[in-house]
Amino acid sequence: MKKNIIVMILLLMFSQVFLAENNENTYFDTNLTVEERVNDLLSRMTLREKIGQLDQYLGTAYKRKRGNDSAATKTEELIKKGYIGSLLIVSTAKEANELQRLAESSRLKIPLLIAQDAIHGHALYYGATVFPTAVGIASTGNLELAKKAAEITAKELRATGYQWTFSPNVDVTRDPRWGRTGETFGEDPFLVGEMGKAFVIGYQGDDISQPNRVLSCIKHFVAGGQPIDGKNFAPMDVSKRTLHEIFFPPFKKAVDAGAWTLMAAHNEVNGIPCHASEYLLTDILRNEWDFKGFVVSDWHDIEALYRIHYVADGMKDATKQALLAGVDMHMYGEGFAKPAVELVEEGAIPISLIDAKVKLILETKFRLGLFENRYVDLDEIENVIASKEHREVALQIARESIVLLKNENQLLPIKSDTKKIFLTGPNATGNAILGDWTWKQPEENVFTVVKGLQENLPENMELNYFDCGNIYSITDSSIALAVKEAEQSDIALVVVGGNNFRDGAPDRTGGENWARSDIKLYGKQIELVQAIEKTGTPTVVILINGRPLAIPWIAENIPSILETWEPGMEGGKAIADVLFGEYNPSGKLPFSIPRSVGQLQYWYNYKPSREARDYKFGETGPLYDFGHGLSYTTFEYSNLTFTDKVSAGDDVKVKITIKNTGSYSGDEIVQIYLNDEVSSVTTPVRKLVAFQKISLEPNEEKIVTLTIPSIQLALYNREMKQVIEPGVFKVMAGGLIDKFEVVE
Ligand code: BGC
Repeated sequence: MKKNIIVMILLLMFSQVFLAENNENTYFDTNLTVEERVNDLLSRMTLREKIGQLDQYLGTAYKRKRGNDSAATKTEELIKKGYIGSLLIVSTAKEANELQRLAESSRLKIPLLIAQDAIHGHALYYGATVFPTAVGIASTGNLELAKKAAEITAKELRATGYQWTFSPNVDVTRDPRWGRTGETFGEDPFLVGEMGKAFVIGYQGDDISQPNRVLSCIKHFVAGGQPIDGKNFAPMDVSKRTLHEIFFPPFKKAVDAGAWTLMAAHNEVNGIPCHASEYLLTDILRNEWDFKGFVVSDWHDIEALYRIHYVADGMKDATKQALLAGVDMHMYGEGFAKPAVELVEEGAIPISLIDAKVKLILETKFRLGLFENRYVDLDEIENVIASKEHREVALQIARESIVLLKNENQLLPIKSDTKKIFLTGPNATGNAILGDWTWKQPEENVFTVVKGLQENLPENMELNYFDCGNIYSITDSSIALAVKEAEQSDIALVVVGGNNFRDGAPDRTGGENWARSDIKLYGKQIELVQAIEKTGTPTVVILINGRPLAIPWIAENIPSILETWEPGMEGGKAIADVLFGEYNPSGKLPFSIPRSVGQLQYWYNYKPSREARDYKFGETGPLYDFGHGLSYTTFEYSNLTFTDKVSAGDDVKVKITIKNTGSYSGDEIVQIYLNDEVSSVTTPVRKLVAFQKISLEPNEEKIVTLTIPSIQLALYNREMKQVIEPGVFKVMAGGLIDKFEVVE
C-alpha cells in the first residue's frame, strides 16, 4: 500500500513537470482564460504552496545590508520552494530579477508579486522621480496632474521590477500631530476621495494587463488619521456616523474606481483592531461595497493582534482571526505559514477560504502578465526613471502645490529692481523637500531652495545664502550672524518648517511614527524668524513641512508666507519660480491650520454647535481655513446659477463666472461648498462638494460648470440609512451664496 502511494506521488510529480514543460492546456497556456489557468494551477498546489502565496517577505539585499545574512538566505530558500508569494523592500531591479529567477526555479514557477511604498513617486528607489508629497498634490486641486503623477510612478515601478504600490493613502487626517499627516490628501473626505480616485486610475488604468500598470493599494482601512492622542497606531473611538460620513467615503470611491488591493489599518476602531474586524473587512468592504480585490495586512499587524492589541493569545489565534475577518495576505515574514497550515489541517479554517484567497493572488499575477514575463531589462531603466519628461511633471506639480498664505503689500513676487536677496533657514538646503517614504537620492536630483534660487537668479540680483544650521542645531550665535547678513539685504527669505525625510535625516520632526504633542516650529526656528523680522528688512517665510504648523506670530508679523509642503525633487526650482513671479501661486490648503495645539481636533466641516461658544482666552477659529490660498492676481466671482428645485437623486449643475481682475495671469481652483439648512440629523456648516482648476489671463472671464453629485446631498438619517431629505440647500462659492430646494 505504502509503495503504491509513493509511486502515485512520483507519477503525479512527473506528470506535473511534464505538463508544465509542455505548457499546452496547463496554466502556462496563454490560450486558456485566466480563470482556467488559475483553476489548473490551484489544482496542482499543495497546502503549503497555497499558504506561501498568501505570504510576503522582505527583500534580501535589505536584510543583508542590515547584517542579517541568514534571514536573507532563508528567504531565498523559501522562494525556491515556492513558499513565498510576494516581496516588499526589494532594493534594486537587479535584485528583483534575481529573486524572480529563484521563483522560476521553484516547482510551479509562480512569479513573485513585488511591492513598493511608492507614495509620491518611486521615491524609495535611487534615482527615480520624487513628486511632492500627498498634502502638496492635494493643494494643487489638479486631478489631471495627480493622475499623471500616478501614471509616471507606475511606469517607473514596472521598469524597475515592481508591480504593486502601497498607495494611495486615502486616510482622512483630522489631527496634524499625527506624523503621517503629509502623506495624506487632507482633512476633507471629498478632496481625499477625488485625489485617491485619480491615483488609482493613474496606477491601474482601466486594465492592469496594459503595459506599465501597477496595482494600487488603498490604505489604511480605517480611521487611523484621527488617533486619540495623535500617535500612530493609537486607538480610534469613533461613531458609526463619523465612519460613514468622514472615513469611509474615500475608500468607497477608490473601491468603485477599481482599486485592486486594500491594506488594513494598524489601529483599532471602537475596541476591535482593524485586522480582526469582520465588520470592516467583510461586511462593509466585501458585502456592502463589493470589493473584488485582495486585502494585505499592514507591517506585522497580524502579529500585533497578540503583541500590541491583546485580542489574541498567540500567532495562531491571531492568524485565524485575521484570515476569517478578511485579510488575504500577511506582511511579512516567518510566523504566518506554520499556524496557517495547521489551522487548515485542524479544520479551524476551511480550505475553501484559503483557495478563494489564493485565487485572488494568482489571478492578479496572470492578469499582470507575470507568468509570461517577470523580468525587466536593466539597460532600459535609465531611459525611464526621472526622465526629463517625468521631472517636468514633478516641477509642475510642485509649482501648483505652493500655497500663498499671506502677501501684504504685494511683497511677492520679488520686485525686479531688488538687488540683494538674503536666504537662510534650516530647510533652505537638505532633504526636507523630499518628505517621508524617500530614501537618499543622487545629489543632482535634489533641487533645494538654495540651488533653485542660485540657478534661477535674475542677472541684476545678488544672492547671499547663510547656513544657520539644521532644525536641531540653530544656535543664538548663528541667529546673530544671520541677522547681520539680513541687515544688509533688500529682502530676507527664511526657510523653516519640519523634516519628514526617511533616510537618516539628522533633524527629523515628522513622518511615520513621528507624532508630536505640539505643532509649533521645532527648536529655535521661531527665534530665527523673529530676529530677522526685527532687522526691518522685508521678510518672507517659506515653510517646508509635512503637517500644518501653528504659527500665529508669523501669521501676524511676517508680510509674506508661502506654504510649500514637501515639494519633491524639483521643489527648489518651483519655489524660485513663485518667488520671481515665473509662476503665480494657485494652491489651496487641504488642511485647516490651527492657532495652537489646544485647538485640536479642529476641522473646517464641523457640525453647527461647535461654534456656539468661544474659548475664553485666545481666538476661536483657525489661523488659515481649509481651502485658503492667495494669488498674485485677483479673481472675481459672479453669476452663481443653478436650478431652484431638484428631485432627490439628481446631480446639481452649477454655473459660475470667474474673471481675472488683476494684472497677472493665474490659475484658480474653483471650490463649491454645500450646506443642508435643516435636516433630521446634524450636518456640517459647509462641505466641499465640487472643484475645478482653471487658468485665466488678466481680464479674461470664464463660465465654469461644475456638478454637485447627488450623493453629496445625502445624509445618514437617525436609523443610519443613507437618504436625501427634501429641504433647502445652500451653495457657496468664492463669497457668493444661493439656495436650491430638494423636492419629493
Ligand atoms: C505602513 C504602511 C506601509 C508598510 C510597508 C507600514 O509601517 O503603515 O503604510 O505600506 O509599512 O512599508
